[in-house]
Amino acid sequence: MPATTHPTPETASFNVEALRADFPALAQDVYEDTPLAYLDNAATSQKPTPVIERLDRFYRDENSNVHRGVHRLSQDATEEYEEARKSLARFLNAPDPDQIIFTRGTTEGLNLVSSTFGRMAVEEGDEILLTEMEHHSNIVPWQMLAEQVGASIEVLPVTDRGELRMDLLPGMLTDDTALMAISHVSNTLGTINPMEDIIDVAHAEDVPVVVDGAQSAPHLPVDVQALDADFFVFSGHKMFGPTGIGVCFGKREHLEAMPPYQGGGDMIDRVSFEETTYDDLPHKFEAGTPNIADAIGLGTAAEYIMDLDWDAVQAHEEAVLEYATEQLEAVEGVRIVGTAPDKTSVLSFVFDDIHPYDAGTVLDREGVAVRTGHHCTQPLLERYGLPGTIRASFAAYNTREDVDHLIDGLQKVRHMFG
Ligand code: PMP
Repeated sequence: MPATTHPTPETASFNVEALRADFPALAQDVYEDTPLAYLDNAATSQKPTPVIERLDRFYRDENSNVHRGVHRLSQDATEEYEEARKSLARFLNAPDPDQIIFTRGTTEGLNLVSSTFGRMAVEEGDEILLTEMEHHSNIVPWQMLAEQVGASIEVLPVTDRGELRMDLLPGMLTDDTALMAISHVSNTLGTINPMEDIIDVAHAEDVPVVVDGAQSAPHLPVDVQALDADFFVFSGHKMFGPTGIGVCFGKREHLEAMPPYQGGGDMIDRVSFEETTYDDLPHKFEAGTPNIADAIGLGTAAEYIMDLDWDAVQAHEEAVLEYATEQLEAVEGVRIVGTAPDKTSVLSFVFDDIHPYDAGTVLDREGVAVRTGHHCTQPLLERYGLPGTIRASFAAYNTREDVDHLIDGLQKVRHMFG
């Protein structure tokens, strides 16, 4: 989207202060009298009061195991857990809540898909197509699978600006390509990949696509049916939900054909020592006592997000990113890494002559929480010849004041090391 169409936060119909008031962690001082500018949202977001209170209420009043008890509490917990699944189905516009599998997060979702669907779809001599911007979570499980079955990994490169080389995609989808796994939004560059186009091109060659939605679920309205994604996985903790919970959405025909991921209680239909038959979706993929409280908390987070005015939130996030980009470009010696025209919420940058870790340490003392390092994308940073970057990542509750706080901190960094 061209920069000129971005409304400023002042004109957008979005009350950021009211939103901030929902997030108690944002109001604190870190160190003495040093207010917090929390700019590490790509790592994990803060949690709003409704989510915190929902977890509290579950453990105070409702705690019980699900799917097994005849008693009142267990029935209530089961109902709440299944209601959360429905909220997540609405959040993704999934056709059926049965296609929502609760996982520990994106990493577990990708491991689930690689070790079940992957084992079915990928054979010796096949190729698994990834991109150069993938998070380690969307590389290592596929490498493990490739080693197990004798397949190879192919990598779609990125440009200097951090866009995918879409021109190379059709040629890289060969008769041997068994599947493609790709992030919707890059956690290091902020690039929004043209996912609908990518999936169209892949499907034209009958290649299923696994989407890592860890960074898109918190920032873009996601519609798995419009995308036609075969799988879409994400983590709750980056989208105002609890840690230790996430979602793996899959197309019904895949989920039904796939073998279970883990064996145990809750995923069976009948067990004998001779043979076990498995339960229906989604329980086939949820062995053992699930993370009940956090699933319910994630349902609350999804409802909270769906209640926001998305157009206004997105306009606000775009305006803050644009402002931060302009301000950062004006800091002496700073170079932004990732300048694709279609970006969201992530600003990675380096100083010519200052190590990211040194900068991060000074920023921390100024109350500015950023991440430094390789952001679990070592191959990508190698592509850019960098050991790491400083990454400021934004959420809907961040403001221009947070950006100013960052820029003041960077001026201090310049002063100390320059
Ligand atoms: N993929 C991407 C693009 C990510 O940003 C992250 C989190 N940094 C992950 C995967 C892994 O998510 P989690 O650690 O919550 O499993």
